Amino acid sequence: MGELAIAGLTPLTTIDFPDHLACVVFCQGCPLRCGYCHNPDLLDCRKAGQLPWQAVKDFLLRRQGLLDGVVFSGGEPTVQNGLYQAIDEVSALGFRVALHSAGTHPRQLATVLGKLDWVGLDVKALPEDSLKVTGVARSGVKNWQSLEMVQHSGVAFECRTTVHPALLTAHQLRTLAGRLRDQGVRRYALQWVRGTRMLDSSLGLAMLSEEWLETIQEIQSWFPQFEFRRG
Ligand code: SF4
Repeated sequence: MGELAIAGLTPLTTIDFPDHLACVVFCQGCPLRCGYCHNPDLLDCRKAGQLPWQAVKDFLLRRQGLLDGVVFSGGEPTVQNGLYQAIDEVSALGFRVALHSAGTHPRQLATVLGKLDWVGLDVKALPEDSLKVTGVARSGVKNWQSLEMVQHSGVAFECRTTVHPALLTAHQLRTLAGRLRDQGVRRYALQWVRGTRMLDSSLGLAMLSEEWLETIQEIQSWFPQFEFRRG
């Protein structure tokens, strides 16, 4: 089992792990190619990490009693076999553990779910609409398998969808959110795409039109916990 390849570390966050002071470990590599991806440097799964795992552990030893938790984010953390052991080591140091994932590897996710305290799961689109968003065939099937697993695990979680109007229509988003609501998702976040530095620079600016505002307002009322995040 290889050591986790780490692209970077944010030493403090109050927004990435609800109700926790945490740090964020950015894992290298992601199999998806979302047109709106704002961090293309993290995508190459063969690229070496920028920070040794030992440096993260040394950092955590200095933060015991000061931080509540550690967030594994990316990229896509479940790409890496080293995630399982890294989570164990972080837990052994007394930190609670959150995972941000786009649900690309349901089998790998299954091995770590029982160790997690919180999951932020990207739900990119309905399975039939996912290819346009992620650029990868069958990514939607795995994404929704992952959602089902997270829902049945009993681990607290949030679903989040990032929107660029060139990749997802308001109608598609409404249908997607309705499916999530009907499936019992209670915490949902819509993330309006960041306007700068996208993997596909031809996408252009994401204008928040009247139609989108109405759609977001409608969706908001469907979930007990809802957040709209502007990039
Ligand atoms: S899931 Fe999409 S947005 Fe997230 S890192 Fe991978 S390509 Fe980028």
